[in-house]
Amino acid sequence: MIVMKFGGSSVANANEMISVLNVIKNVVDKKVVVLSACKGITDKLEQIAIISADKSKNFNNEKENILNYIKNHHINILNSTLKNYLAVATNEVQSLLNDLENIVQGVSFLKELTSATKDAVLSFGELLSTTIFHFICKEQQLNSVLIDARTLIYTNDNYNEAAPNLELCSQNIKKEFSKINPDLVITQGFIGSYNNGIIRKTTTLGRGGSDYSAAIIGAIIGAEEIQIWTDVNGILSADPRCCNDCRTIKQMSFEEIKDLSFWGAKVLHPKTILPAIEKNINIKVLNTFNPTNEGTLIAAKNEDNLFKVNSVIAKGNCILNISNKRFLTEFDNENVLYSGYCNRKYITLLNKNNFEFNEKFPDIENFIDCSVICISGANFSNNSQKLLNFLSSIKCLENVEVLQIIFEFSFSSVLLVIGSCDVHKIVDEISKNM
Ligand code: ASP
Ligand code: MG
Repeated sequence: MIVMKFGGSSVANANEMISVLNVIKNVVDKKVVVLSACKGITDKLEQIAIISADKSKNFNNEKENILNYIKNHHINILNSTLKNYLAVATNEVQSLLNDLENIVQGVSFLKELTSATKDAVLSFGELLSTTIFHFICKEQQLNSVLIDARTLIYTNDNYNEAAPNLELCSQNIKKEFSKINPDLVITQGFIGSYNNGIIRKTTTLGRGGSDYSAAIIGAIIGAEEIQIWTDVNGILSADPRCCNDCRTIKQMSFEEIKDLSFWGAKVLHPKTILPAIEKNINIKVLNTFNPTNEGTLIAAKNEDNLFKVNSVIAKGNCILNISNKRFLTEFDNENVLYSGYCNRKYITLLNKNNFEFNEKFPDIENFIDCSVICISGANFSNNSQKLLNFLSSIKCLENVEVLQIIFEFSFSSVLLVIGSCDVHKIVDEISKNM
């Protein structure tokens, strides 16, 4: 079995949902399809939840506009994709919309939005998109089974950011799946439930949580592969906004994902894919709108020892301190990006945002403004000569003040700490040389 997760832009509208249909039709394996809400809908739901509870003003018009927007958006998809199933699908969608409206009225009436109620409101994005897609599949004679993720993903009561109870999820998923032995399961990403002793309440795993749902389900069923379908050809080697020459990374490790995400890249959140990595399940990032592109493979295990530079990311607004003394405890932990010991000196990298200098730092003149460039890849530590050759191939570094090179940051990355200069130019050249 494989797990295929499609994000909001993949199910944005009727055309996009048809693209998803075509992708899954081409897969012969049994599959679990995990869907996000249609693009932008979760934001709208969040907005309506918040304004409904606003005590200072009656947002009646705004609320009506949002409810109408949500309604029209989903009804339009039904009208442009269904014929035989249009009536029953419209009924079900309308019933969800009524439930949503009732909850919103309740919030407006009480002028109170608890975190549990907010989750209940947010869940409608995924409930609507999966209901619609299920009927699109049926219309195409695909034998799909729609399973409410709230019967699978049991969580704690940390609403808005709930943590799944993997033991219970595993029991639920095994029980549900053994009952039906399905070829095609459709379920919601992002949502789960918590039993408060009286009733089971809807929870959410945090914004962007659908990847997490897919990884949990994949890990539990022992999926052959987890596919994360997006609207780009996989994970890019650099930020296209500051690099003319980025390309799709073919294969990378979980470690690299962690490093990239740490330095601010908008890649998969490492926490959300960890359950799959721990079970040695490969993850692929693919493009719904260019499905033959091979995308990026996040390999659970890397068996070759080939030296490879995959990606580069820069972070400005940092501070470097190199000192004989170790005064790490004086820093606010959140601001420490790196600390280590090298050539008998303590090296500390700090995030300059929110960082306040005070008298506690005696050698204040040794706090140097800097940028950090993180270069990631595979097998750096057992190929140090190749890594050095690579670094010396970057010609524009010759005219730049390289304050420190940190080899010990992680197994898959090296950090260049540089003084003020044109960081984009360096990123661009590194990217070209990869
Ligand atoms: N729909 C949710 C969000 O927009 C979850 C997700 O898309 O992953 O945050
Ligand atoms: Mg997402």
